[in-house]
Amino acid sequence: MKGQIENKPGVVEKSPVTALPEDKGTPVLKATVIYIVDGDTIHVRLENGRKEKVRFIGVDTPESTRIVELYGKEAAAYTRKELTDRTVYLELDVAQRDKYGRLLAYVWLMPPRENSKTEVRKAMFNATLLLIGLAQVMTVPPNVKYADIFVEFQKEAREAEKGLWGTIKTPAPVSISNKASTETKYIGNSNSKKFHRPDCQWAQKIAPRNRVEFGKREEAIKAGYQPCKTCKP
Ligand SMILES: [Zn+2]
Repeated sequence: MKGQIENKPGVVEKSPVTALPEDKGTPVLKATVIYIVDGDTIHVRLENGRKEKVRFIGVDTPESTRIVELYGKEAAAYTRKELTDRTVYLELDVAQRDKYGRLLAYVWLMPPRENSKTEVRKAMFNATLLLIGLAQVMTVPPNVKYADIFVEFQKEAREAEKGLWGTIKTPAPVSISNKASTETKYIGNSNSKKFHRPDCQWAQKIAPRNRVEFGKREEAIKAGYQPCKTCKP
């Protein structure tokens, strides 16, 4: 992996680099955000003029599942609002690029002075996304420098039902069969001349060609139908 990085032209180590005071090994790159791909991926221009695609380390903004798709859009909008044209400080970890060649970074909104939880909460954008519930923790070793803090922040957001955590706990939308039951009160079988509540197991087994719907119980009785002994309509 290390060899792979060294073989790439224009490796990160050759860019203008500053380091965290107590952590001389960690490069921090000053950059300007020039484009937002989505909630956790941006394009930047480094101080040396080179453009880079940057994927935020340790977080994943929603996009795949239907229930949180909305928050994927919201996360992208939030990142766009907060980061567009902004100067950021990219702190790298052990693995500097992913398999797509994207730079992997902790995105600081001011030059990071220390690695404390307080500082991360205050000034690291990756952490902000977790704290407001617009991202979930996604730990990909070996980039685990802030993994514990990220998990803590996610727990905090989940307990406060922030963002997508609030959505996940919301009951699913009314299903089509439940919706039908509010409109159709009784279902008859024109073959057996029995009628049922819509949620009765027997009602659900009636062949479409024998299925009759009644809005009121009396209508079914008047039409000569007998109430089912299972669901007792
Ligand atoms: Zn029934």
